[in-house]
Amino acid sequence: MIICGETIENGEKRKIEIPVKGAEPLEAFFVCGAKPGKTLVLTSGVHGCEYVGVEALRTVFRKLSPEMLSGAVILLPVANPSGFYQGAKQVVPEDGVNLNRAFPGEENGSLAYRIAYAVERYLYPAADFLADLHSGDCNEALHPLVFFPTAGEDKGNREALAAAKALSVPYRVRSTAKNGLYSWAVQKGIPALLLERGGQGRWSREEVDACVQDVEALLRHLGILPGETWEREQTEIVEMVYVEAETQGFWYPEVSANMPVFSGHLLGRIENGDGETVQEVRAEFDGIVLYYTTALGVGRGDPLVAYGHP
Ligand SMILES: [Zn+2]
Repeated sequence: MIICGETIENGEKRKIEIPVKGAEPLEAFFVCGAKPGKTLVLTSGVHGCEYVGVEALRTVFRKLSPEMLSGAVILLPVANPSGFYQGAKQVVPEDGVNLNRAFPGEENGSLAYRIAYAVERYLYPAADFLADLHSGDCNEALHPLVFFPTAGEDKGNREALAAAKALSVPYRVRSTAKNGLYSWAVQKGIPALLLERGGQGRWSREEVDACVQDVEALLRHLGILPGETWEREQTEIVEMVYVEAETQGFWYPEVSANMPVFSGHLLGRIENGDGETVQEVRAEFDGIVLYYTTALGVGRGDPLVAYGHP
């Protein structure tokens, strides 16, 4: 396999630097199996305060050896290095752009677009399948879920859905996004998923272990690791509502992650500095809360609560 002009031989396990114009290269880690097979690209750290996936990919790289694999695994644990090391919420600090809205990238754009360009140029072509690992952000509580695409071509959509069913997360959510790391890959014909686990700027060994097990399930599903997978007990969410703040203020949620909600019930409200309610959020239908913002202070356009129904 040739990546960034470097040849990686079967049986090799090592780091490769992915060039980003005008910035430090991204550190990617390769495990090239002794036997041929599919290549899974795994990314995390697109958002700087989402840690479970980052530590899971570091763990996966330590655990995997080329002798175990038929095919290859490429890991990019820290896709947004300045965001990760600076603990920046949601964006690439240099340009204030959400990397997961910066696809397709631009070779000469601001840093988020140049990172997107590098991922697209160097990692997408190697991928038979791609999974991008996220959490709730540092101000969000979340119940584990996987987004699977419905906006790609039928074959890729079907492959992604079949893979999603092999994961231990309790919810799978239909997604029509197109401009993120995973969703743009889907537009380029690569079956892909976005996994979410953890949140609130925390990570635990239990969450990391669960995430590692899902990565291993994906590797087995793709035939890269030996062994069987099976369809997990999972609820498919067919419609979601993502409520945003209409104004800045003080946010008082009335929900928790994985809590059922009922049509018309209050999910939370925003107060202004004078103590007046300036936005009330009420459920549009009966459903379940998948994630919500825990921060007291919110700005206009910030996410407040995301809920959906099967
Ligand atoms: Zn994220």
